[in-house]
Amino acid sequence: MKPPLSLLNPNMPSGSGSLMWFRKGLRVHDNPALEYASRGSSCVYPLFVIDPHYMELDPDAYSPGSTRAGINRIRFLLESLADLDSSLKKLGSRLLVLKGEPSEVLIRCLNEWDVRKLCFEYDTDPYYQALDDKVKNYASAAGIEVFSPVSHTIFDPADIIEKNGGRPPLSYQSFLKLAGEPSFSLSVELSWTPPVGDVGRCEILQVPTLKELGYVEKHQDEFTPFRGGESEALRRLRESLSDKEWVANFEKPKGDPSAYIKPATTVLSPYLKFGCLSSRYFYQCLKDVYKNVKRHTSPPVSLVGQLLWREFFYTVAFGTPNFDKMKGNKICKQIPWNDDDKLLAAWRAARTGYPWIDAIMVQLRKWGWMHHLARHSVACFLTRGDLFVHWEKGRDIFERLLIDSDWAINNGNWLWQSCSSFFYQYNRIYSPISFGRKYDPNGNYIRHFLPILKDMPKEYIYEPWTAPLSVQTKAKCIIGRDYPKPVISHDTASNECRKKMGEAYALNQRLKGLVSEEDLRKLRRKFDEDEDKQEPKPRRQRQKLIK
Ligand code: FAD
Repeated sequence: MKPPLSLLNPNMPSGSGSLMWFRKGLRVHDNPALEYASRGSSCVYPLFVIDPHYMELDPDAYSPGSTRAGINRIRFLLESLADLDSSLKKLGSRLLVLKGEPSEVLIRCLNEWDVRKLCFEYDTDPYYQALDDKVKNYASAAGIEVFSPVSHTIFDPADIIEKNGGRPPLSYQSFLKLAGEPSFSLSVELSWTPPVGDVGRCEILQVPTLKELGYVEKHQDEFTPFRGGESEALRRLRESLSDKEWVANFEKPKGDPSAYIKPATTVLSPYLKFGCLSSRYFYQCLKDVYKNVKRHTSPPVSLVGQLLWREFFYTVAFGTPNFDKMKGNKICKQIPWNDDDKLLAAWRAARTGYPWIDAIMVQLRKWGWMHHLARHSVACFLTRGDLFVHWEKGRDIFERLLIDSDWAINNGNWLWQSCSSFFYQYNRIYSPISFGRKYDPNGNYIRHFLPILKDMPKEYIYEPWTAPLSVQTKAKCIIGRDYPKPVISHDTASNECRKKMGEAYALNQRLKGLVSEEDLRKLRRKFDEDEDKQEPKPRRQRQKLIK
């Protein structure tokens, strides 16, 4: 295949190779870093570095996977890399895979290969900010040009923060006002890339399989139905966009969180997370649909509005020190959450005794994806709704198990759901019983993800502990033996949570946000004393129920 003229400079000197460093942005469409790497280069090294800290099997982790990622996301990433390799091959190139600590590997490649330009997508996550600084400093000192465009998001978070006088906007509406209409142009579609350069003594790997990374099938009984890669992302996007009425009328939070055979939303989040799909391309496609319909929904509820939520959280996360923590995070309410590891373990293991909550947690473990409102339900239940466990602990579990796990969005939504930031109506609590029932009265979602309850009559499926023993026996599910009793009583726990949140908010207000650790300890002691005064002793009762 002949190269397009725009990519080749006929007077190109030898020794003008580029290194294209893939991290996210695992795509060839709308990839400005790849386009720039290809332009005027004699060769391009498309590189992905397998970081053992992220990918290596951790046999001690609470579920299959590495320390940082569940097996589903590792598999999704490998599928995305294999797809990228195949797309690059069609362009006359291929993906070079190396293993090791990424900055060490990069520096070695910059030293040993014919590289004049280093190109990679800009990344706002703190992990990449630190890594990229190291690599950029090395490259600049070695006289290598660095090109790092913003293309993971539609807007550049730094621009928005600058427009707002150096502070991130803290509400969606103020974000929209500042952002205005985006002004990107998609990068050119590549039909060819320069060949891979000489890799010298570097031992290049193929994209590994899960097995080659040390994982065996028996590590997971069911894998996510969502396959990784740009090809699948574009196919899913086309499929979603083909129903123009659906796109035009999309309205969140309307939509059924219990729909699992055909989810109520696009399920494009894992593809956006890894950059298999360009958010800018997605945005443009949606705008094209809107042009051809009479009426369409608008932000915050529309599909474009969903993409803008993503932009909003990226901007706030980028401009807020300690965004992923309660301590030292100026936009986060200081709340004396409890450290009840048993309650946390019950939530994580899908053994709270509330089938709606447990089914969602099974979907998380098996699929790594759940509907937005399902995420609301379990996040609210763990934190301010029922168990009063620290949002950071739930965040960690989502961060490891979600296939769309995204630093800015995950932290932003946990801050939101725990009423620690953005949203403050702590009196509005999702019922772990009636919320799911509203969408799925027969409990099909529960029956699918918790088959132990598949024969429970629909009257009891959301509250199986209320079923008479004869019904439990007939359904082959004795509560307390085959499926746990509830770890707390929702009515009592949610009232206690409201009271605690009220007192914590009052403390934050009184001290104008300057709450010390001692202030939090005092308030926690008061909560414990209040609980101990109650009969029956809920804390002791809780321990019993969990056993
Ligand atoms: P659609 O409704 O089809 O939306 C299209 C895209 O818009 C999504 O793919 C996503 O990129 C973006 N989007 C939608 N809702 C939100 C939102 N509330 N905030 C930011 N962007 C949004 N989403 C993640 O991508 N990664 C996470 O780690 C993550 N963690 C979450 C944790 C909690 C506690 C909660 C309540 C929500 C979380 N979300 C996260 C947001 C949201 O639930 C998912 O983005 C959405 O469910 C993905 O499904 P979809 O692609 O079908 O979404």
